Amino acid sequence: MNAGSSSLKYQIVDPVTGEFVVKGLAERVGDSGGTITHEYRSEKTTHDVDMADHGVALEEMTKVMAETGLPIEDADVVVVGHRVVHGGRNFTGPEMITDYVLDEIKRLGTLAPLHNPAHALGIEAARRIFPDLPQVAVFDTGFFSTLPASAYTYAIDAKLAKEHAIRRYGFHGTSHEYVSARVAQFLERPVEGFKQIICHLGNGASISAIDGGRAVDTSMGMTPLEGLVMGTRGGDMDPAVVLHLNRVAGLGVDEIDTLLNKKSGILGLTGSGDFRDLMGRVDDGDETAQLAFDVYVHRLVKYIGAYAAALEGVDVITFTAGVGENNAAIREAVCRRLGWLGVTFDAAANSADDHDARIISAAGSPVTVCVVPTNEELAIARHAVAAIDA
Ligand code: ADP
Repeated sequence: MNAGSSSLKYQIVDPVTGEFVVKGLAERVGDSGGTITHEYRSEKTTHDVDMADHGVALEEMTKVMAETGLPIEDADVVVVGHRVVHGGRNFTGPEMITDYVLDEIKRLGTLAPLHNPAHALGIEAARRIFPDLPQVAVFDTGFFSTLPASAYTYAIDAKLAKEHAIRRYGFHGTSHEYVSARVAQFLERPVEGFKQIICHLGNGASISAIDGGRAVDTSMGMTPLEGLVMGTRGGDMDPAVVLHLNRVAGLGVDEIDTLLNKKSGILGLTGSGDFRDLMGRVDDGDETAQLAFDVYVHRLVKYIGAYAAALEGVDVITFTAGVGENNAAIREAVCRRLGWLGVTFDAAANSADDHDARIISAAGSPVTVCVVPTNEELAIARHAVAAIDA
């Protein structure tokens, strides 16, 4: 389960085969005019239902399952895994959800106000509706708990930082962990034996440096605002921009929060945060869109160079998530600037219409470049099953 403030994504997934049994999305939770989009046996159905809260959304989901031919009782669910964005300093791996763990997830809402409160609502609802099923929290920050202090420490007043838990945590960890392990499996190399850079490019985007399977740096910080240019977030910028927006432009803190989280990035530069729109406009010769594309690629190339230096070399660079898996133009623009690093690009492999794990660098390229689909739901399911088996 992945509960957002007004949505609930769910999947019932077989942790062994990786196949999903059902998947769906409840939208406009807590409002009128809600819908559940549900998929079972390759058939997609849409159901109009008002959902006052996440509890109602889950009840409606079970009704939809019964109506579409697989009552939840027959789905052999053994555990509910919940995506939780922020695990703070204490949760370094998946946790069986107890009252204490739930309280901590709520408390960490100060560090992830857009996410953790919604996850807590989803967890409370799932505990109520499935009282007999164990529930496990899988944290986006977990995989990055191995970052060295030199990578996670911000150079500000140390006492203040400690008191307020200000440091880099990193996000999308479930994806970076899954994809880095999948790369090793796909290339048939032991994960301990090589250095990787993973570019997770979705609506949110982050990049990680992984040495022998352990994360050593990542671009998202105390919150998911830092780092790469994203659909609606601008990533790195001088923190004084925030002060200037307040003192000179007269924006309040909440307005700046909304501006930076929801109205910046590709959306802020072009008016749309979706990369399909962006590419359409680039192809039409739109200069505004071209600049956004260039800013996006420049930031990504800069991070790859930085991480290659931090790792003291890189063996494999991988693209994943919506943009990374589907946008050949961005991959090409990035790879064409990495010849100096040892990337020999294979344009035909890059533009092949293939959706499985694949290599897009030429045979013999000193640095291998891959495209590997991510699957956060499967990774969460596997962690959840491992937690109850432990
Ligand atoms: P998130 O999970 O962070 O919401 P995704 O990983 O689904 O995001 O990525 C969404 C982005 O991927 C959008 O900008 C979208 O335009 C882009 N994208 C998704 N599918 C395709 C596709 N088939 N071709 C081009 N771009 C795509």
